[in-house]
Amino acid sequence: MVKYLDLERINASFEPELSEAVMRVARSGWYLFGEEVKAFERNFACYCGVKHCVGVGNGLDALTLILMSYVSIGRMRPGDEVIVPANTYIASVLAVLRAGLKPVFCEPEWDTCNISPELLEGLITPRTRAIMVVHLYGRVCRMDEVGEVAVKHGLLVVEDCAQAQGALYKERKRTGALGDAAGFSFYPGKNIGALGDAGAVTTDDDELADRVRALANYGSSAKYVHPYKGINSRMDEVQAAVLNVKLKRLDRDNDLRRCVAAAYRKGICHPGVTIPSGGEGLSHVYHIFTVFSSRRDELRQYLSECGVQTLVHYPIPPHRQKSLSDYAFLSLPVTERIHREELSLPMSPLLTAAEVQTVIDAVNAFPC
Ligand SMILES: *Cc1c(COP(=O)(O)O)cnc(C)c1O
Repeated sequence: MVKYLDLERINASFEPELSEAVMRVARSGWYLFGEEVKAFERNFACYCGVKHCVGVGNGLDALTLILMSYVSIGRMRPGDEVIVPANTYIASVLAVLRAGLKPVFCEPEWDTCNISPELLEGLITPRTRAIMVVHLYGRVCRMDEVGEVAVKHGLLVVEDCAQAQGALYKERKRTGALGDAAGFSFYPGKNIGALGDAGAVTTDDDELADRVRALANYGSSAKYVHPYKGINSRMDEVQAAVLNVKLKRLDRDNDLRRCVAAAYRKGICHPGVTIPSGGEGLSHVYHIFTVFSSRRDELRQYLSECGVQTLVHYPIPPHRQKSLSDYAFLSLPVTERIHREELSLPMSPLLTAAEVQTVIDAVNAFPC
């Protein structure tokens, strides 16, 4: 069987360094606010090419803390609007709501599945303060075009980089350094994954970084001094130690993902299956390899019978979720079509050539 994502195999490939890192922390007697987190924050800021990285508890908190901090430092007000892609994981939308702001959904482009910069201006109102881009499936959004709209209208750009660690935009700058602030998730299955939950905020903005750090630690400016109403969202020492080990291999692993993607693109040839365009150069890190089929559920069942495990990202769009019923009136046909037709093929830096071929052969053998 070809697993969708074999995390056991991935984590085993980091041994013995991974277990040594975990044991080093276990034996140290120091589990929060220590040297491992400091080192990871330095390493990751340097890797992304930004001044600040703040380790936090998870990706949702990273995004929430960015927006809460903008409100806290007076750059946004409760009820202000943030444009978010309609085609995203629900966390992007929940972050906006948790910060007391209002999400405004923007349709994606069919070909890239990412926010359509051409549609942004039509959504801007006097209360719009920011555009949140999500580099979905590991593909970088069209940041030059998004940036132009943001500058023209004085909007902030927040990146959701949960699925795009290490992607390079136009061979120039990495995700995490392409907007005013960025949120990362290190959920175990992401391109760089912890052994549990972890996340980070990256930014060049000193004031924002300070406020994120304070709000993530009960809104404190010094021990037991709390000028702001904060939350508790920390990256712990074990996860930081794990991420320090894994970060060193991120570029190599992303290259291996690109090789798998190239093999899929070359090998898959079926009239009922389409593949979104690959984007340029290193701007896609293939967190997820997406194909589309109008017979997605049948294809999924067929692949499963062939021993190929797949997933759907995602079966229900945010505006169709019960929890977001306020937005159920929206008609977002591109988003809805992506959710009907998307299928995610196995993707990992450690897929073998034989496994990749098994997937290709199975897709090509899907009866028309
Ligand atoms: C995984 C993910 C998140 C949330 O990350 P957590 O660490 O699970 O909170 C946010 N946005 C997107 C697009 C994601 O894929």
